[in-house]
Amino acid sequence: MEKKEFQAESKRMLELMIHSIYTHKEIFLRELISNASDAIEKLNYRSLTDENVGMNRDDFAITLTVDREARTLTVSDNGIGMNAEDLEKDLGVIAASGSGLFKKELAGKGASPENEVIGQFGVGFYSAFMVADHIRVLTKKYGEEGAWLWESSGADGYTVEPAEKATVGTEITLHIREDGEEKDEYSRFLREYTLEQLVRKYSDYVRYPIRMLMPHSVKKEGSSEEKPENEEVYEYETLNSMLPLWKRGRFEVTKEEYESFYQEHFADPEAPRLVITASVEGNVSYQALLFVPAKAPFNYGTEQWQKEAGVQLYSAGVMIMDPCRDLLPEEFSFVRGVVESPDLSLNISRELLQHDRQLKLIASNLEKKIRTELLKLQKDDRASYEAFYETFGRQIKVGALEDGGAKKDKLQDLLLFYSSSEKKPVTLSEYVSRMKEDQKYIYYLSGESASAVDRMPQTEILKDRGMEILYFTDRADEFLADTFYSYQEKPFRSAADDNLGLPEEEKKDTKKYEGTFAFIKETLGDKVSEVVASSRLKTHPVCLSSGDGVTFEMEKYFAAVRPDLDMKARRILEINTDHAAFKALEKARETDPEKAAKYAEILYSQAVLIAGLPLEDPSGYTDLLCSLW
Ligand code: ADP
Ligand code: MG
Repeated sequence: MEKKEFQAESKRMLELMIHSIYTHKEIFLRELISNASDAIEKLNYRSLTDENVGMNRDDFAITLTVDREARTLTVSDNGIGMNAEDLEKDLGVIAASGSGLFKKELAGKGASPENEVIGQFGVGFYSAFMVADHIRVLTKKYGEEGAWLWESSGADGYTVEPAEKATVGTEITLHIREDGEEKDEYSRFLREYTLEQLVRKYSDYVRYPIRMLMPHSVKKEGSSEEKPENEEVYEYETLNSMLPLWKRGRFEVTKEEYESFYQEHFADPEAPRLVITASVEGNVSYQALLFVPAKAPFNYGTEQWQKEAGVQLYSAGVMIMDPCRDLLPEEFSFVRGVVESPDLSLNISRELLQHDRQLKLIASNLEKKIRTELLKLQKDDRASYEAFYETFGRQIKVGALEDGGAKKDKLQDLLLFYSSSEKKPVTLSEYVSRMKEDQKYIYYLSGESASAVDRMPQTEILKDRGMEILYFTDRADEFLADTFYSYQEKPFRSAADDNLGLPEEEKKDTKKYEGTFAFIKETLGDKVSEVVASSRLKTHPVCLSSGDGVTFEMEKYFAAVRPDLDMKARRILEINTDHAAFKALEKARETDPEKAAKYAEILYSQAVLIAGLPLEDPSGYTDLLCSLW
């Protein structure tokens, strides 16, 4: 019998395949099952026009057989089969276009070849050599007399010879490699349980049943209650569920079905908050079944979570990639789900560029779809949307701020902020719709929490004028006003700003206080940059404002993350000249300047505290207070 060399290209390919360290050797099973399913599909198609086939759709199956002793795993199908010519052409050569790209891809990726590329480049069959040191293909083609045996131990070539096989179809027997240093590296592929898991993971929606003899423990005959004895019996089981939920119409599937699919598939005890489906035919065809989880996963935000985030990508019922990161934009990466596209695998095996374009098209469709559905939830079920926003909103906000607000227009309407007047989270659009006729700005104020901001003296004048303030209680919010600048042409303005742009802001005559202000400035020295009369304070005696530039929230942020920068906001001490405390200070300046200086220090410290900043000298402050008794 003549041993044939693989073609040069194929040989190099094979060597690459076997000697590269693939992290996911397991995908070989997906590849063999996909080939079996393709072969069945071909014969099934034939049976529609050729009554001699004598098979019904229900007669087709893929069978996995394990022989632990012989270390073999066999994948059989009753599909179309191959003749000698097919074996030469299909298993002896790798499609030329695929191999070139594969190599390029591999070179581009340096030393970390991604396992996923195998199937995408139509070299599926060869992946079996990752786990097998010898492969036998016994096959009989439909409509032909003889059967054939193809055998190979890898790169050094293959043989083809006539053989005996009773039925049409193909049996691929892998002799599984011995384990190397890593325990169970290959032997696990000889265990039913592992194989079952792999079928569920990669081939659950293959359209024909994948069967395997599965061990069951049953009570041994003659064993008693006192001395129970179990024995293992084997029974054929179908391992795959075959019909994917996302291929069924939205109205054919119940809410419960969607929910239990999500819970099982994504191991979440909680039902999803939102189910999003899409079925698109056209330029690019795909089905998507997406879920917004009700709760954040326990590892939300961690590196591990980042790694797992993304949707699963299927093509023709076969899982191609999990997770596929490129299908979701960063701000929606909390979305789980499945996307299936028939266009994909075809393009992937031919040309990567095209594949990229298809994927991008699907990704931009999905982005739009998710956005629309979230806005719909915001409108239809506000409570649910608010709960959603609690959980994942920050991610959207960060997305809106990224790249200088490049996605502002897309994301701004999804954002919520606590409102001073509504006492609940509101959207920017709701805020603007409530703006007073002569109101120029969208007012906001930053602080630790809504209740803390609500007590800040800077809110007084705006509240007094019946104007709404958005409370920015997240560190990211501080950058929002700068990045967005405006919403619906209304600029953002901090309620702590010197100039609130209020209509007919009556300018009080503050000349007469200038002496006292100078006294306070002199007393406090460099601690404050200016002392001014406040036009916004109503009941509070003092507050700090920062003017343009670095705000107090930024100062706090940088103190936490980059203390070395020593980023400081300006401290402008604003004084409520109508307040009794100021009046007392004025009076003391004439009668007891020492006491007046103490008042100034105390007022300043109070302003610092209210701004949420740390006191430079807390015990000095309390001493000062006590010294007044
Ligand atoms: P691809 O599936 O992308 O074509 P593979 O390397 O997986 O690449 O398979 C190569 C070819 O071998 C298939 O296209 C098919 O023609 C043939 N083949 C593989 N497995 C089978 C099988 N079980 N039955 C019939 N033909 C098969
Ligand atoms: Mg294949």
